[in-house]
Amino acid sequence: MKGAVIHGARDVRYEERDEPKIVESTDAIVRLSATCICGSDLWPYRGINPTKEPTPIGHEYCGIVEEVGRDVATVGRGQFVIGSFFASDNTCPHCKAGYQTSCEHRQLVGGAQAPLLRVPLADGTLVATREVPAPDMIPSMLAASDVLGTGWFAADAANVKPGKTVAVVGDGAVGLLAILSARQMGAERIIAMSRHETRQRLARVFGATDIVTERGDAGVARIKELTQGVGADSVLECVGTQESMQQAIGVARPGGYVSYVGVPHDVQLDGQKLFFTHVHLHGGPAPVRRYLPRLIELIESRTIDPGKVFDLTLPLEKVAEGYRAMDERRAIKTLLRV
Ligand SMILES: [Zn+2]
Ligand SMILES: [Zn+2]
Repeated sequence: MKGAVIHGARDVRYEERDEPKIVESTDAIVRLSATCICGSDLWPYRGINPTKEPTPIGHEYCGIVEEVGRDVATVGRGQFVIGSFFASDNTCPHCKAGYQTSCEHRQLVGGAQAPLLRVPLADGTLVATREVPAPDMIPSMLAASDVLGTGWFAADAANVKPGKTVAVVGDGAVGLLAILSARQMGAERIIAMSRHETRQRLARVFGATDIVTERGDAGVARIKELTQGVGADSVLECVGTQESMQQAIGVARPGGYVSYVGVPHDVQLDGQKLFFTHVHLHGGPAPVRRYLPRLIELIESRTIDPGKVFDLTLPLEKVAEGYRAMDERRAIKTLLRV
């Protein structure tokens, strides 16, 4: 089969790869209905995370089970399934507590920008839908695999509740779907920080009530002004840089909640400053698995349409162009047809 392989900075190739096979008796092989490029794939693409050797890339997936190992009991051939970027057993203490991305047996699922994917710990990792979804639902199911699940965790971890004021830092796919999630959880006011017109439009579609275009200290000041000097109850940090983290902590009200779901790159927190903010901090790699059953239900009932976040669709063979478009911010998120 042919799939995406990263060779180095700005060098993603569509090339021949080995077909995945069942290795452990708890594995499943999934034939993907679609796959996509993640904002976090841009870290190695931009060379910020160096690539030491050619590596199959991609970690967001949904599709039809093709084959299962002999110890897999809950999913079977022909079922449509979704999983997350970390495989998890869903039985250890951390999984039971809802932190499947800290599973004692977690394994990264990699190489998903391809027609076939091996998913370890299939029973714990994969969630099957009731039936094979209609083709127009596939983008939303695919979004649930990571960006929706991560946005949902951002809102949940920041204690979003009905009537609350929420600020979202970051207008990438995760930030936009964090807005959708906060809306579903009943937030009254959702302030999106974005300076890009197409992203602002989508933010509004997903439920943003206010847009703040300023950044840094000016952005903090603007949100303080919008909240009568109080700050936001919940702040969802969906980027992972020093500036975005500082901004997030800066706009939270005393006693407010800040969630952070973007992998941090050189983020340093000043303990003394943090101490006097009174904020709750809660973040990490989103335990998407915890939310999958609920998210699938919301998509199947057409209550939410997170698939709108894909604004570019390409065949898998054009994967390199998909990366370029996201790198240059011409696309929010690229869906790859397989
Ligand atoms: Zn991702
Ligand atoms: Zn576990």
